[in-house]
Amino acid sequence: MEKLSNPQKTIEVIQKYQFDFQKKFGQNFLIDGRVLDKIIEAANVTKDDFVLEIGPGIGTMTQYLAENAREVMAVEIDKNLLPILADTLSAYDNVSILNEDILKVDIGKIAKERNNGKPIKVVANLPYYITTPIIMGLFESHVPIDSITVMVQKEVADRMQAGPGTKDYGALSLAVQYYAQPYVVANVPPNCFMPRPRVGSAVIRLTKYKESPIKVTNEKLLFQLIRASFNQRRKTLQNGIKNYSGFNFSREEVAKALEEMGVSPTIRGEALTLEQFAQLSNLLDR
Ligand code: SAM
Repeated sequence: MEKLSNPQKTIEVIQKYQFDFQKKFGQNFLIDGRVLDKIIEAANVTKDDFVLEIGPGIGTMTQYLAENAREVMAVEIDKNLLPILADTLSAYDNVSILNEDILKVDIGKIAKERNNGKPIKVVANLPYYITTPIIMGLFESHVPIDSITVMVQKEVADRMQAGPGTKDYGALSLAVQYYAQPYVVANVPPNCFMPRPRVGSAVIRLTKYKESPIKVTNEKLLFQLIRASFNQRRKTLQNGIKNYSGFNFSREEVAKALEEMGVSPTIRGEALTLEQFAQLSNLLDR
């Protein structure tokens, strides 16, 4: 079959099946072959790889993945897309479709059964309304993952790779950078999709660390500290920690830890590096 990245072919399929785009599922299908080539290259998909695709849509990216990977599993929530996918992917015997909500899928089990528990690659043009829960879910569930190469809203890509002292720096930057090394592969304008989204997009690759370079004694405490300090971004870190309901550290304990770290007691969380958050977490975890 002719590639769906050809806009004419996408229109033909949409019309043939009288498919209605569902805004609530974040359905914006890619119609640019150059962008798809870039994604496959950045994800470094080879015939050794098991790839998990989230939201195949009508199968545009799936066609590229099937040609390059050993095996592809694509999880799609919209049952109206199933007959279309059966048609557009009929030439490939290495693709399976799972009609499920990705947030409810046991990906660890899939990796175990289909890839002998070895790290899988995740490649997707994500539904933007659930980008953060998808990515954090993949990291926090400790599923074996090699890398996640995904299309996201441009602002989200900026936040994932931001460093301290910038406006985009926040809880998402720190959470992502704890688990992975981010790299923005390309910016992608709205005219590469059908229908066109109202926001700009970017492809980002998150290469998961085999072991996080950040050493903490209490991972949960680290993430609570990050949340506490960005919940009240304009407050000092000390006040953020004091006001966070999950904590009962005294002002003195926090002041002492900050002093040991050699940073000002009035510092704001947004000025702290990930390493400093880890240091603070380790000092308070006593
Ligand atoms: N991969 C296709 C492409 O690039 O043209 C479609 C990408 S579109 C941005 C997002 C896809 O994710 C849609 O097909 C949508 O139905 C699907 N989707 C939305 N929410 C989902 C969920 N919770 N679980 C699985 N798939 C979902």
